[in-house]
Amino acid sequence: MSQDQHYSFFQSVERSFDKAAVFTKWDKGILEQIKACNAVYQIKFPVRIGDGVQVIEAYRVQHSHHKLPCKGGIRFSDEVNQDEVMALASLMTYKCAIVNVPFGGAKGGLKINPRNYTPFQLEAITRRYTAELVKKNFIGPGTDVPAPDYGTGEREMSWILDTYMSLRPGEIDGYGCVTGKPVSQGGVRGRTEATGLGVFYGLRELCNIKEDMERLGLTTGLEDKRVVVQGMGNVGYHAAKYFHEAGAKVICLIEWDGAIFSEKGLDPDAVLKHKKETGSIINFPGAANLNKNTDGLELECEILIPAALENVIDKHNAPNVKAKIIGEAANGPLTPEADEILNKKGVIVVPDMFLNAGGVTVSYFEWLKNLSHVRYGRLGKRFDENMNIHILQTIEELTGKKVSDKERKFIAHGADEVDLVYSGLEETMHAALHEVRDVMMATPQIHDMRTAAYVVAINKVGAAYEQLGIFP
Ligand code: NAD
Repeated sequence: MSQDQHYSFFQSVERSFDKAAVFTKWDKGILEQIKACNAVYQIKFPVRIGDGVQVIEAYRVQHSHHKLPCKGGIRFSDEVNQDEVMALASLMTYKCAIVNVPFGGAKGGLKINPRNYTPFQLEAITRRYTAELVKKNFIGPGTDVPAPDYGTGEREMSWILDTYMSLRPGEIDGYGCVTGKPVSQGGVRGRTEATGLGVFYGLRELCNIKEDMERLGLTTGLEDKRVVVQGMGNVGYHAAKYFHEAGAKVICLIEWDGAIFSEKGLDPDAVLKHKKETGSIINFPGAANLNKNTDGLELECEILIPAALENVIDKHNAPNVKAKIIGEAANGPLTPEADEILNKKGVIVVPDMFLNAGGVTVSYFEWLKNLSHVRYGRLGKRFDENMNIHILQTIEELTGKKVSDKERKFIAHGADEVDLVYSGLEETMHAALHEVRDVMMATPQIHDMRTAAYVVAINKVGAAYEQLGIFP
């Protein structure tokens, strides 16, 4: 759905890759191998819908087998096509490399608008798609592990798990065939909010870098920074919520059917409640409706977070974007032309393949949990609590002073699963941001974070291929 007709989504990924590849040591053949999609599976299958039969077009692309399993979400959207799925699968490879998740990239897509189907019909479609993946060995804990993406969530993941388990009974690690599952079915606490929380951790860390903020004419920290979020789905809602809770002002929320604005800031939870009650974010009490939803992208603000679909900022609206920082929560929200325009304007574009890697990071934690067959924190929590209380009592005895009950509770607390997942995610996002930024700082010819992120990713994938010894 690019509005800049020159490049398809996959071509724009290739273009960014090529731009970065010149800063790496790899020769042409290796770069071609890193860039190519290793396996593309196109499926058409029939599903009974109402009185008739509908043929569903679907894909699973495994971009890179340099590490297995492959990993990537499944998208339900009527915009799905092979090029898009290939591009998204490629981004997954680079994303996993950037956040040190030991997977190759993959992506799945079904060309359907989920709003046009009943839950019963969606279940039939999801189960049939899973069966098609099983048939060709395109799913499994050691081969390819799907996850949620645009238009899918926990519900679809549990249908996938159930279908897989019924076709592969007794497989001991079977629960690791898909991530983003409900906690009651082997999911990990913290997965649902992981991508939005990762977006928040990544941008918060950037906003704490004095040098970068000074260059933008901003102070460090999030307090009072004006934030605009496009998309109130899984990623956008959670990102907006964490920014709001951290003291930033979420001045505008944009959905497909409208956008709302409030100078004082919006509470994403209240907006979500309103959306559930009325079916739309528009007419939210105390906020103004914008004339066109895309007007929201051009508002005066410090941080713009596109968290819906790709190519929403192109060469036509990029010159009007006033944000100083763009956090690509969605995959590919900027066309290459828009990217160039914004970089020239001095905007810091925090690229998708780093910024929205929180989902795959926590998916990795979920997969590890499934393979280890034990909940995080189960072994250590009580031991840590006993030890913390013991240390505290010893200090109190030695000093003759006592801490408050609130402090005691806080100090004694042993890590639960969600605590470990959040801290693992926070550490991952911080480390990756600095790794990418360090490459940018060390290479004067690199002026944007996307190119630096690609350099980091290409170097890691290249090194993995080298270690595999597949190149003579
Ligand atoms: P989602 O389906 O939960 O939410 C998408 C939201 O965008 C919906 O509320 C939808 O109504 C809204 N939307 C659709 N068209 C719009 C438009 N034209 N303008 C404004 N809003 C519009 O999907 P999601 O999981 O939140 O994914 C959003 C993006 O983030 C996608 O690009 C996806 O690839 C990317 N992403 C998701 C994850 C994840 O863990 N879910 C991980 C990495 C990247």
